Amino acid sequence: MTINRVENSMFGSSTWLLGSEGEGTWLVDCGDVEPLVPLIAPPLRGVLLTHAHFDHIYGLGHLLSRFPAVRIVTNAAGREALLDEYQNLSAYHDSPFRLADDHAIDVVDEGDTVSLFNHAAAHVYATPGHHPSCLTYAIGNHLFTGDAYIPGVKVVTLLPGGDKQAAAASLERIARLAARRIVHPGHGLASPWR
Ligand SMILES: [Zn+2]
Repeated sequence: MTINRVENSMFGSSTWLLGSEGEGTWLVDCGDVEPLVPLIAPPLRGVLLTHAHFDHIYGLGHLLSRFPAVRIVTNAAGREALLDEYQNLSAYHDSPFRLADDHAIDVVDEGDTVSLFNHAAAHVYATPGHHPSCLTYAIGNHLFTGDAYIPGVKVVTLLPGGDKQAAAASLERIARLAARRIVHPGHGLASPWR
C-alpha cells in the first residue's frame, strides 16, 4: 500500500491518500480537493473520516461532485455532525457545510473492519475526547489518529463535545496501538511513536 499526504490550506490539516496498484485509492479525511486529483489513481473508493471537524471534511462536497460514488466512513456522532454545520463547526468559518442528507454514509464503530484493498483492511477504534466522532484506524503497520493524537500537541478538548477524561483514555489506547507502527496524525507529518 502506498501512502501520500496533502497538507490542506485550512489549519494545515492532513489528507492521506492510500493506494494499491490496480485497486484504486482511499482517502483519510478531505480538505482541498484540487491537489488530490492528480494523486488519485482511479477508482476513488471512499473516505475514512478521523472526525467530523470542518478542517478534516470541508472538501467532501466538492469531492462528491467529482466522484459521486465515494463511500464516506464515520461513526454515528460523525454522521450527525456531517449533517449539521454547527456541530462540524463550518458555520463558524464563513462557509457553512453540510453533507447532502441523501448521500450514503457508512456508520462504523469500535471493532469494525473496513476492507480497503485485497490485502489491506482498516481496523476501527473509537478514540473520543477531542470530539465524539474521533476514530483511529489501524491499517497494517500504519495508524491514522486524526486529532486524537498529534505528536507534540496537547489534545484539544475545549470544543463542543470535547471530554478531557475520554481524551486521556484514548491517548493511552493510541499509545498501545502505536507500538511498532507509524503514526499518521490529523495535522503534520507521519512519524514513529515516541
Ligand atoms: Zn478536530
